[in-house]
Amino acid sequence: MLEDLTPPSRNTRCKMGRLYDSLEEKDQGILEKALASPQTWSSKALARELTNRGLSITEGPLALHRTKSCGCYRS
Ligand SMILES: [Zn+2]
Repeated sequence: MLEDLTPPSRNTRCKMGRLYDSLEEKDQGILEKALASPQTWSSKALARELTNRGLSITEGPLALHRTKSCGCYRS
């Protein structure tokens, strides 16, 4: 249950990154495609559909992750 527990200072994954990590491989692939298709999926629409499926995410962190402006891509 706590396998992923790391100290806060080392946890640089943003909310969207952690959500992504929590998905099964198959779902990660689908999500990756959606994130890479801004023409098909606006950040707002994608966040809404994920929330509808029980994945709590809002447009803000999703858009930041999508544009690699989040903690996941900071080193
Ligand atoms: Zn991220």
